[in-house]
Amino acid sequence: MSDLLETLRTAHDLTDSEILTFLREPQPEQELFAAADAERRKWYGDAVFLRGLIEFTNYCKNNCYYCGIRAGNSHAERYRLTNEQILDCCKEGYALGYRTFVLQGGEDPYYTDDKICELVSAIAVQHPDCRITLSIGEKPCGSYQRYYDAGARRYLLRHETASPEHYRMLHPESMSLENRKRCLYDLKAIGYQVGSGFMIGSPYQTPENLLADIRFLQELQPAMIGVGPYITHTETPFADQPSGDLHLSLKIIALLRLLFPKALIPATTAFGSMHPQGRELALKAGGNVMMPNLSPTAVRKLYDLYENKICTGEEATQCKGCLERRIQSAGYRIVSDVGDSLVKNV
Ligand code: SAH
Repeated sequence: MSDLLETLRTAHDLTDSEILTFLREPQPEQELFAAADAERRKWYGDAVFLRGLIEFTNYCKNNCYYCGIRAGNSHAERYRLTNEQILDCCKEGYALGYRTFVLQGGEDPYYTDDKICELVSAIAVQHPDCRITLSIGEKPCGSYQRYYDAGARRYLLRHETASPEHYRMLHPESMSLENRKRCLYDLKAIGYQVGSGFMIGSPYQTPENLLADIRFLQELQPAMIGVGPYITHTETPFADQPSGDLHLSLKIIALLRLLFPKALIPATTAFGSMHPQGRELALKAGGNVMMPNLSPTAVRKLYDLYENKICTGEEATQCKGCLERRIQSAGYRIVSDVGDSLVKNV
């Protein structure tokens, strides 16, 4: 085993220069993935937690340069699910054994705090034994508090990149890393289990940017760390930029597992979109969560963050069957419970 891997495995940290070396130079992949898998099994065994993902609106007021549902994409066909449709998705997901529902969407001004609270309370009343996760972007602290009081307990908000200059290259002037970080700390202070993370191979990203991402996550200590390869969308200003690299992405999953042994790390849809077995590979590299799509089939293609996004044609039951086979074939087991993180909010 290389010295670097041995340090990572025993100390769960590396110096800045070691992290840069790790990122820049080829690593013995099988040993790295095996070490990450052993670490994950130490804390979570062979369990894979499922989160039913409901993409409830693709309207967005923001203009992130990488994202297919950005406000400036006039070719995007927009949709919103009704509360009834969303509750139906939860009902279907519940019957399939899902005990966490993730409501994700663009930053859609139609959804006032009152509307979000009404929706969250309705789900909480119908499914008191489930966790409700929101992923609806940057809000004032008071709004996050209201959603929490209505019953939301988890929030996913990737920081996207922890380097201010890189953040500027990926987002218009109206957005700032400072506000994104403020949101994450507010969410934590309220008591949410927070998920953050970043894209791998986003345009202009350097190894130094990735190092900053890791250091920021070490400071934040989120319950969940969501990463995935950046995938180009032609209807964005980054149409000519290459997508991220699958191997680097898998290497980073393993690095994150060894740096954050107790974190929840999803094998995200972007991995599956890059490679037919991308999500299984991400599980074997240290991932322990999957987020099957529960959105109605009719709208799935429209939540078009990046090109060739998978699972846009299937029904929820088909998705569950497919996932079950994939998870088993990778050597793991689906667990049907809320699947709380071992990282506690401090
Ligand atoms: N509006 C919410 C949800 C955003 S979509 C929010 O701001 O948090 C969820 C994630 O998809 C984003 O955080 C981003 O990291 C990822 N994403 C967006 N465009 C992408 C692309 N082209 N390739 C890969 N991931 C992308």
